[in-house]
Amino acid sequence: MSENGRPRIGVFVCHCGTNIAGKVNVAEVVAFASRLDDVVVAQEYKFMCSDPGQELIKQHIKDHGLNRVVVASCSPLMHEPTFRGATTSGGLNPFYFQMSNIREHVSWVTENPEQATRKAKALISAAVRRVALHDPLTRKEVPVRPEVLVIGGGIAGIHAALTYANSGKKVYLVEKEPSIGGHMAQLDKTFPTLDCSACILTPKMSELGKHPNIELLTLSEVENVSGFVGNFKVKVRKKARYIDVTKCNGCGACWENCPTTVTPSERVIRKGPLVIKKAAKPSHS
Ligand SMILES: Cc1cc2nc3c(=O)[nH]c(=O)nc-3n(C[C@H](O)[C@H](O)[C@H](O)COP(=O)(O)OP(=O)(O)OC[C@H]3O[C@@H](n4cnc5c(N)ncnc54)[C@H](O)[C@@H]3O)c2cc1C
Repeated sequence: MSENGRPRIGVFVCHCGTNIAGKVNVAEVVAFASRLDDVVVAQEYKFMCSDPGQELIKQHIKDHGLNRVVVASCSPLMHEPTFRGATTSGGLNPFYFQMSNIREHVSWVTENPEQATRKAKALISAAVRRVALHDPLTRKEVPVRPEVLVIGGGIAGIHAALTYANSGKKVYLVEKEPSIGGHMAQLDKTFPTLDCSACILTPKMSELGKHPNIELLTLSEVENVSGFVGNFKVKVRKKARYIDVTKCNGCGACWENCPTTVTPSERVIRKGPLVIKKAAKPSHS
């Protein structure tokens, strides 16, 4: 049982004009709700989100000593904050409130009024059982690190990194290959406009390379992510390059002049030497 004592629940069923009441038998639903465990009062109103509707909730909290509120109306997207506000104005923690959507989930999507009424009862019954278990919550502010990590420097990652960086955020772009560009760097023209791929990509690559808010980590991969939203910690492994990165301009001369007798192909560098296993001879007994 919560610190607020035995649940004393008020259920408020909205007509939403004819949006709900045109399909759901609201009077029957209210009578049903009033008989549910811990429900002290059940009330209907034409527009529960209106000022008089919210006033009704506040007044009932005070008159009946309610410590939980259920509103059966529309989608919580729009009016959950409204009813949490009314619950707070009535003197309760805003999270002692539960909303039940009997418009989008019931009256707008159910042809048969009998079925709609039955479903509304079921949803309200669930909301009543749920709100009885609610605990009060308090909002708090915690410091966050507003830096952004983008993994993968293809056109999508480049664009994302530039968008964040241009909005003033510090961005880390992690790319596993020696260069950013991804698939688009390998294309000549792009469908359907036949625009030159490099003409789109290279200005962005160059802008990214010079951007003061972007730290580019090529030949690198994310090893571990820990923490939580707003305070992630990421471990990035930077692979060995065998060159002086401060002097490298990507000309590729080191590749051609590499002192090893055989320059390994890109596939071998990435995946290691190819081992062809001979198929085992079938044994005949
Ligand atoms: C042959 C071909 C032809 C195409 N033609 C067209 C076309 O004509 N028109 C069109 O609109 N689209 C075309 N596309 C599709 C287009 O190229 C892709 O949709 C686009 O490039 C995808 O960009 P992206 O940034 O999402 O991914 P990618 O370009 O694949 O980039 C992903 C990047 O992430 C990196 N990465 C991957 N995993 C990791 C990791 N674990 N850690 C760090 N980095 C990582 C990769 O190395 C790469 O740089 C074509 C694609 C192909 C393959």
